[in-house]
Amino acid sequence: MGISFDNTYCALPDRFFERRAPAAVAKPQLIRINRALAEELGIDANWLESEQGLAVLAGNTVAEGSEPIAQAYAGHQFGHFVSQLGDGRAVLLGEVRGRSGQRRDLQLKGAGQTAFSRAGDGRSALGPVVREYILSEAMAALGVPTTRALAAISTGETVFRQEGEVPGGVFTRVAASHVRVGTFQYFQARGDVEGLRILADYVIERHYAEAREAEEPYLELLRGVIERQAGLVPHWMSLGFIHGVMNTDNMAVSGETIDYGPCAFMEEFHPECVFSSIDRNARYAWGNQGNIALWNLTRLAEALLPLLAEKPEEAARKAEAALSAFPEQFQENYTARFRAKLGLEVGVSERTIQETLRLLAEQEVDFTLFFRRLTQVAQGEEAGGLVALFSDRAAFEAWFAGWRELSRDERAVAGMAKANPVLVPRNHRVEQAIQAAYAGDYSKFERLLEAYAEPYADRAAYADLEARPKPEEVVHQTFC
Ligand code: AMP
Ligand code: MG
Ligand code: MG
Repeated sequence: MGISFDNTYCALPDRFFERRAPAAVAKPQLIRINRALAEELGIDANWLESEQGLAVLAGNTVAEGSEPIAQAYAGHQFGHFVSQLGDGRAVLLGEVRGRSGQRRDLQLKGAGQTAFSRAGDGRSALGPVVREYILSEAMAALGVPTTRALAAISTGETVFRQEGEVPGGVFTRVAASHVRVGTFQYFQARGDVEGLRILADYVIERHYAEAREAEEPYLELLRGVIERQAGLVPHWMSLGFIHGVMNTDNMAVSGETIDYGPCAFMEEFHPECVFSSIDRNARYAWGNQGNIALWNLTRLAEALLPLLAEKPEEAARKAEAALSAFPEQFQENYTARFRAKLGLEVGVSERTIQETLRLLAEQEVDFTLFFRRLTQVAQGEEAGGLVALFSDRAAFEAWFAGWRELSRDERAVAGMAKANPVLVPRNHRVEQAIQAAYAGDYSKFERLLEAYAEPYADRAAYADLEARPKPEEVVHQTFC
């Protein structure tokens, strides 16, 4: 019964965190438990749904074995360094070893104020809870490394946000860990080389065991983080995903996608596409995510410098060499992802991909629908639905003839269905589920979770979710 905690982060030195129990909420109610994930984690889902489980997930009681902490970290927010951020509205309950033996964090988001809250209330509105649940589970089902959703709770309390007074919620996040690029920056900013070393050793132990045996473990750690990000970001881009707030505190060193604040799936294709209301300079636009990942990784490399070599010039040389691998790794993964989406065989030029994307941008074609209908055509269906996405038919026909010539490899064509989802969480659907949840109706939320759990399956029951929003449904901006 209960949760078998096995905590390691709270055994690190005191300066890594604040010990802090979650603050109780007035009238917690269970919205949803992720039963499949609970099972994976070796947690009894029936217990989670019981009164006792609910009290733990709401933060009203501290479970046996839990040693709750708020983690310290720093970070660059929109390019500006903040030396102390930290868990201002989250508490790490502890870690569990799942069925597979993999260690994972259980964190409550919206668990009350901590030493890192600054002016914030430490709480979360219900909307962002619903949003993160839908988005992170959809990303997992799409095959993208990501933090997961274990539970959503309504608190019976209200919080004040941009839109006024709204119901509050608590979200249970599961993550490989919550160590961020910004966690390293926290110790860098304090000139705390010992802290850096302890953190680096911890991350190697937990996420990069292969670096342990390397001649230069810290350099190998840096290389490992770079390699995972060079895989992750093209994966996002191939799905039209815009993270929206790629600050260094929102980049997990494990390589998982973390922080589903203002993220969104792009509809009409445009490389400069941005949704986040706070991203005024398009820093985190769809097409800029590779550059930003490298920028963030450069900040990580800077933080690690004291561990790479005694002589600063030598450390810098090593860091630069590690970082220089990123562009090529990124491009290789990007090309492979888009080649798979287009059903083209290995060796096809990057120009074909660029030309395709240029055509989509010029005609403002819906990203997901284009690849979905192209997949259907490759499977032998009529091209009518695909053609209809284009206003300039002549430009499309010219491109299409070229694609027909190139897409002759059967295996590549068969792979298209696995690279091109039928469903992604469209902004207006997520927004509708949030608004319904605010009105006490979780049926839309539940339906979206069922639909997005199998995003590559063609199921008539969810055909309406494929469509673009009606003009009055369009969501132009997303908020944290
Ligand atoms: P985020 O924008 O989610 O990456 O959060 C950036 C920083 O703001 C983190 O240190 C958060 O803990 C903090 N923060 C965000 N919302 C709140 C809140 N409601 N109360 C306290 N701290 C918050
Ligand atoms: Mg964050
Ligand atoms: Mg956030």
